[in-house]
Amino acid sequence: MKLKRLYKKNKDGRLIDAEGRVLTKTTVEEKKGSFLQQVNRMVDDDGVVRTPVVVGVNFYYASSPQKFTPSLIAKATQQGWATLGDGTFTIHAANLDSPLVYQIIRTPGYYCAHCSVELDDQETARDHVVDQHVDDSPDANNPSGYEHAQYYLCELKGANVDG
Ligand SMILES: [Zn+2]
Repeated sequence: MKLKRLYKKNKDGRLIDAEGRVLTKTTVEEKKGSFLQQVNRMVDDDGVVRTPVVVGVNFYYASSPQKFTPSLIAKATQQGWATLGDGTFTIHAANLDSPLVYQIIRTPGYYCAHCSVELDDQETARDHVVDQHVDDSPDANNPSGYEHAQYYLCELKGANVDG
């Protein structure tokens, strides 16, 4: 999956922030841990770093199943290019005629790697694996035998996009 964010522009085609200030891309030095790092930022005429306004997305290369992080879903719904409801996450892409509807098949949480059952919390997950399963974890990424999934696992309904 690939998303290209579309930003709010003024009549001259310049990027603007929520207050209408014209923004210019510049490279600034920012501290990352103990290192100084060159990063691209949008600044106003006074050189103050501002946030451009996302007004939508173009969508490329749908894949299924697809993992969406809670922060992507929160941003998407807040920015207005996607909706969450009825067990689906729906992306309204500017470059597509019809919305992409993803069925949510798993929400963030704890899941047994052996039998896929959803578990309330880490302690419950640990107890479940010890009590119910004797074999090593079938999931090499989760040797404890359970997964703490921090994403929404979704399946694309229909076939709106190639790839
Ligand atoms: Zn299990």
